[in-house]
Amino acid sequence: MPDRRVQPAANDDGIELTQTLRSLRVPVVANDPEIDEIAAGGKVMLFCRDSGSRKWAPRWLSQAGLEVRTPSDHRNALTIAREERPDLIIVEAGLDGPDDQLLYRSLLDAADLEVPVMVMCASAREISGAVEAEPFDIVRKPYEWQVIARRARAAVDLHTARGQLADSKQTVEKALELADVARIKLRSRESFEPVTGLPNKTKFNDLLTRGMAAVDRDGNKLAVFVVGFNRFRLVVEAMGQEHADLILAEVGRALSDCLLETDRAEETGPGIKAAAAASLDQFRFGLMFSYSGDEAEVRSLQQRLLERLSRPIQIAGQTIYLSACLGIAEYPGDARDVHSLLQRADNAMRDAQSRGGGFKYYCTETDQAAARKLRIEHMLHEALDQRDLTLAYQPINRVSDGAPVAAEALLRWTLPDGTAVSPGVFVPVAEESGLMVRVGEFVLAEACRQLAAWRTAGIELPYVSVNVSRVQLRNGDFVNQVQNALTRNSLAPDSLELELSERGVLAGDTDLLDQLRALKALGVRLAIDDFGTGDSAIAYLKELPVDVLKIDQSYVRGINADGKDAAIASAMIALGQRLGLYVVAEGIETADQLETLKTLGCDAFQGFLIARPAAADAISGLLESAS
Ligand code: C2E
Ligand code: MG
Ligand code: MG
Repeated sequence: MPDRRVQPAANDDGIELTQTLRSLRVPVVANDPEIDEIAAGGKVMLFCRDSGSRKWAPRWLSQAGLEVRTPSDHRNALTIAREERPDLIIVEAGLDGPDDQLLYRSLLDAADLEVPVMVMCASAREISGAVEAEPFDIVRKPYEWQVIARRARAAVDLHTARGQLADSKQTVEKALELADVARIKLRSRESFEPVTGLPNKTKFNDLLTRGMAAVDRDGNKLAVFVVGFNRFRLVVEAMGQEHADLILAEVGRALSDCLLETDRAEETGPGIKAAAAASLDQFRFGLMFSYSGDEAEVRSLQQRLLERLSRPIQIAGQTIYLSACLGIAEYPGDARDVHSLLQRADNAMRDAQSRGGGFKYYCTETDQAAARKLRIEHMLHEALDQRDLTLAYQPINRVSDGAPVAAEALLRWTLPDGTAVSPGVFVPVAEESGLMVRVGEFVLAEACRQLAAWRTAGIELPYVSVNVSRVQLRNGDFVNQVQNALTRNSLAPDSLELELSERGVLAGDTDLLDQLRALKALGVRLAIDDFGTGDSAIAYLKELPVDVLKIDQSYVRGINADGKDAAIASAMIALGQRLGLYVVAEGIETADQLETLKTLGCDAFQGFLIARPAAADAISGLLESAS
């Protein structure tokens, strides 16, 4: 039976690596039981009035394995501390103590106490006072208890190690070693990401370098996973940072648990030799492990990870479903240095992200796709600056009499060499890079300008319709942008329709409601675009303050050939109209399709039957009969 325990990535790297792995809660081969002794236990006494701290401190301190006492009687703090013998006292700088001096000063002056004191300071003045008094540690407002708890843990460990030294029950050498471990722990807080408690990117790079060196020596392989999430940014924006931190901490725990489970799993392969998880940044995690034998081990961990991360997370009474994306690269096969290896796993993760989730092994196409995206992003920047983006328009006509009621503005991008880039390609890139806010602002301004120009030329088109991306809606300034575009062109709000794609904008996102209500209050028309392509429950239609339903062309295409398509289209039209919505069918290419729409009672249509999207001038003639 092979040894399946997780081993330190490189045994000769000594105690620091062992400590790192321990802090990941990945079992290491422990040859030093004392390390365990100082890693748990310890009592902290907290004297403070700050209500936030009284709420959060006990939570995070106990999570760091510390017993917490919060006596409210700080006037008798000295007596209480002497009786209870804590390993650390955390005290607010502003509290008065006995002898007409500040409490923390009295605590520091009490020679018989010998307990490290951490002072909480709310102002620069308090900090300079505390610095003068030389307590063990000083923390300043805003109090990040997740981080402070780590510092408290390290302080308690150091205190314990010193106590053991004083007891001199052990050899001086052993005690020094313990103090050393505590010192390393203290130092290691710089290597950890405070929210998840996992190693940060710098530390991860360091672990990877050592892992790769170990693989070079022992002939094993090493795999790196980069873990990201679809729409995670949106979750953060929607729930606020505090809740998002709780989610991240939960994800960090899930990653550590997965490594633990992998360690315990009996059924596959010859085993994982070393493992570590890390927080790479606010939205991405890293995971590395070395293994011997075939790739079954990688696949098994990958499946376990995806399964574990797909479980719902309960935060603040809400159930959050994350959609994890995994990118995998292997050493030495895919890259030979830390930077490239991580970069390739990251590219593979982004690839998985653009496919909506799941996992992706790195391959050369991954790089090509990433490079292509970067190139498009770069060119798009230039296009915006050089005004190479234009709008094409497609008429929207009434089904009953064929009169034009509106025109939909559609983005066009022509490269200097004449190649047209489809919005299906560049809109997602613009969304990912954040450029969509600027692009979208251009579309709004230009479409409104064009409508005003048509009206000046005597074309009384009721409204112009503009596609809006989720990224724009998320931008706090969007309502203002809309208002500005209207005012600058002296247009009434109902001259503008905003199309929100069911798949791209509304999918699973109920917290856009406030923004939609604000737009509705402004008086613009709101349309659900591509209706039928999302997977939202029909019931959500009732909740949204929309006026128009645009049925996706995939339902219209077969309305003559296939009885089922006609039945579905008919049901959609009826549903929309029952909800009081104006129903538009997209992608009408033949007269037969239009005839069927007439019998189904659809309100309006657009499609190649009337015109392909074209420049404003080219389409003006078709809009003249507008009313
Ligand atoms: P969409 O808003 O659903 O636009 C309709 C798409 O169907 C357009 O593709 C249009 O050219 C095409 N189309 C219209 N009639 C027919 C027809 O009869 N048959 C067929 N086969 N296709 C037809 P386009 O211009 O390539 O745009 C694709 C998508 O890109 C749009 O879908 C929209 O989601 C997005 N898009 C375009 N412009 C913008 C924009 O300014 N902002 C944002 N956020 N998205 C945009
Ligand atoms: Mg549209
Ligand atoms: Mg559409």
